[in-house]
Amino acid sequence: MTAAGGTHLWAGLSARTLMIRRCECCDLLLAPVAVTCSSCGSDHLSRVPSTGLGSMVTWKLADRTGVGADDDALPSMLAVVALDDGPWICSWIEGEIAVRPGRPVRVEFDHLGSDERYPVFHGCQHGTAVRVA
Ligand SMILES: [Zn+2]
Repeated sequence: MTAAGGTHLWAGLSARTLMIRRCECCDLLLAPVAVTCSSCGSDHLSRVPSTGLGSMVTWKLADRTGVGADDDALPSMLAVVALDDGPWICSWIEGEIAVRPGRPVRVEFDHLGSDERYPVFHGCQHGTAVRVA
């Protein structure tokens, strides 16, 4: 998903900022892909930066293609993350982390192509990403 002008829907100009939506009518913060406000129904939504911090709500192992050296699907963890800002987002979890409800995570961006980025989450403590090889 790419917004007009080539800017990716998810990422802010810094390429490290997850952008979410805010309703201009009632100020509710919404998921990045929202097109209307779930509270008042308005379609006047602006893009605002998220903290990128959240916690895991639920997760499931799923086959994921395009992450390895070949095209074989690899088992990866797909999770619903409740952002500290409020909205929930469904995304991949990178690295092996001890999963439990409420596990803190932080967004980072992986690259699909030369200018395409998508959000993934890593386990973290105190707002700092922790990569586990
Ligand atoms: Zn609204």
